[in-house]
Amino acid sequence: MAAPPKDVNVTIGDKTFLVPAGTKVKDAAAAAGVEIPKLKIDASTCKGCTLCVKTCESGAITGNKKEPHELDQSKCIQCGECLAKCKTASIVPA
Ligand code: SF4
Ligand code: SF4
Repeated sequence: MAAPPKDVNVTIGDKTFLVPAGTKVKDAAAAAGVEIPKLKIDASTCKGCTLCVKTCESGAITGNKKEPHELDQSKCIQCGECLAKCKTASIVPA
């Protein structure tokens, strides 16, 4: 059985806000007055865990397991969902 969803803190640049379990990142960001900017992946810290790929419904993130991933800004709709999954804070403002 899957673990129940948890509240998670999301950091974008110098701003951090709480995303309660079951809440869309973009809604939590709007409530916190934070705009989700264009994003990129920091290849120096990305572990290639693939969690962001699995959560991105736009197919904007690609990469091989255990290698740095890439984010295609032309496909990204800036929903922010990947930000809540990355444990290494590798998804950062572009
Ligand atoms: S912000 Fe949304 S659309 Fe863009 S890469 Fe992350 S999950 Fe995909
Ligand atoms: S969730 Fe973070 S560490 Fe994992 S592949 Fe995506 S950017 Fe890299």
